[in-house]
Amino acid sequence: MNFNEMNLIKPLLQAIKEEGFIEPSPIQKKTIPLVLEGRDILGCAQTGTGKTAAFALPILQSLSKGEGSGVRALIITPTRELAIQIYESFECFGKYTSLKQSVIYGGVGQSLQVNSLKAGIDILIATPGRLNDLIGQGYITLDAIEMFVLDEADQMLDMGFLNDIKKVIKLLPKTRQTLLFSATMPKEIESLATNLLNNPEIIKI
Ligand code: AMP
Repeated sequence: MNFNEMNLIKPLLQAIKEEGFIEPSPIQKKTIPLVLEGRDILGCAQTGTGKTAAFALPILQSLSKGEGSGVRALIITPTRELAIQIYESFECFGKYTSLKQSVIYGGVGQSLQVNSLKAGIDILIATPGRLNDLIGQGYITLDAIEMFVLDEADQMLDMGFLNDIKKVIKLLPKTRQTLLFSATMPKEIESLATNLLNNPEIIKI
């Protein structure tokens, strides 16, 4: 299956072409159609497999087709570097859509990030600590989240973010689509996945 056969909308196909992607990677071939169908995903995959586009493309497509306001997709990832990479992917693939994204992470002042939230964004990429900070200060509400991604879940566990993540999960709407990616599946992540995912499709790469 190539990108043209995935029923992706033209604005995405154009951006994919300009990015120079010819063939979808294995995780993209498996994940994109399932996410477009609305399925929850438990993905066992490392960075470097093309995981980012595997979730960014169908999220951009689903949000473009639907209607809604407020932050509609939330992606949580452990580090600032990953958060920025994911943000850049959304920017790149979403450049011909009308969707807006923002990225927040710790270790820097919050004012620029807070300003970017005020611009009215559809997609938020965040590290767990800063996300909870800004939720606590009233700058972010999660009532409108339709799609939720936990990226590199095992790394977040190792970095001590499990409690932060659980706090965020409590604030998410019950009706939503959830994707969880982890390179390994320690017990804590398995039980998180059981609670978080609704009849997930399991994808191993
Ligand atoms: P990721 O695993 O998402 O961090 O992606 C790893 C690298 O592979 C990134 O530099 C992507 O731009 C690149 N990449 C992802 N999918 C494809 C693809 N289908 N064709 C060519 N390069 C890709």
